[in-house]
Amino acid sequence: MPHAEGKVAAPFRLRVAGQDNSYGGPGLSIRGMPPYDVIVLGSGPAGLTAAIYATRANLKTLVIAGAVAGGQLMITTDVENYPGFPKGVQGPELMELWRQQTARFGAEFVDDNVTKVDFSKPPFKVWTSDGVHEGRSIIIATGANAKYLGLPNEERLKGRGVSACAVCDGFFFKGLDVVVVGGGDTAMEDSLFLSKLCKTVTVVHRRHAFRASKIMQDRLFKTPTIKVIWDSEVIDVLGDQRVEGVRIKNVKTAQTTDLKVRGLFLAIGHDPATDVLRDQLRLEKGYIVLRPHDGFSTATSVHGVFAAGDVHDFRYRQAVTAAGFGCMAALDAEKWLQGHE
Ligand code: NDP
Repeated sequence: MPHAEGKVAAPFRLRVAGQDNSYGGPGLSIRGMPPYDVIVLGSGPAGLTAAIYATRANLKTLVIAGAVAGGQLMITTDVENYPGFPKGVQGPELMELWRQQTARFGAEFVDDNVTKVDFSKPPFKVWTSDGVHEGRSIIIATGANAKYLGLPNEERLKGRGVSACAVCDGFFFKGLDVVVVGGGDTAMEDSLFLSKLCKTVTVVHRRHAFRASKIMQDRLFKTPTIKVIWDSEVIDVLGDQRVEGVRIKNVKTAQTTDLKVRGLFLAIGHDPATDVLRDQLRLEKGYIVLRPHDGFSTATSVHGVFAAGDVHDFRYRQAVTAAGFGCMAALDAEKWLQGHE
């Protein structure tokens, strides 16, 4: 989920559906309030779906939405693969509808970032800039951000040929030439996916060996429309209104070459938003590790704390799968709470 790095945290806002503020004006102390049944961290597809299911199970639910609410779909334009929208939908519009649906059932929202958590014993504690919130159970749905190269023209042309999600955007590049950057399993998977749609796929990798699993590499090498450029980095993205090409540099010879392509797909990893969770839960490479027990498949290493979406799922990373995980986490939390009245 995107965070407003370098921005001052948003003023405290606690909101209830259809009302300005159920507990009074900004700055009101929330200490001493009874704990929520569920606190959901994150307001992307996983978090909001969890909140819909939790509130409809009559659980008192708080969503800590983040200072920049809505998750990765807020920075996406056309979403054509989310079921129920035959003509597609804009990412921000989808999230706005989702939030309205969540609020309809009484979920409360704090549009702020989490600064600290304490999961050592229930009720679990979650801090935002204005105070501490207590929850009998927690659902973590803070997501993961795709990494980008950090080039100015890459930023400018995001959504106009630059993408970090081949499954989401590949269809827009049907019959065109594209570049994929990266050498891990995601780069292999994205390249193979794109090779079924695009005229050619060129994988640009900064070393002379992929780190991806052997089986994925073999599949890639066997695909005639995919070629690999080794020891090279993308150093610029070319094009005015849309991507027209990329400039690459051989890291050994320093020679630069321009490739004429219409798409640039980044597959250089993701950063799960788990900074504040360190030392509280079992993480691996920054992702939450699920520890299913007693039929709770979204359980984490702390009983009563559940996880949903890209914060644990590095594999599927789709809005629809995140929503599915959100539903599962809410059902797990509900059942867990029943056993811990
Ligand atoms: P990885 O971290 O495995 O790979 C990232 C790749 O991007 C590396 O090859 C790395 O190069 C390259 N890279 C990183 N930063 C830059 C940069 N600034 N410029 C150029 N290249 C860069 O990420 P993945 O997303 O591929 O995979 C994450 C995890 O998810 C892995 O454990 C993977 O196995 C798993 N996964 C599993 C799948 C499956 O089982 N089907 C599918 C997808 C992912 P270098 O190698 O030089 O470090």
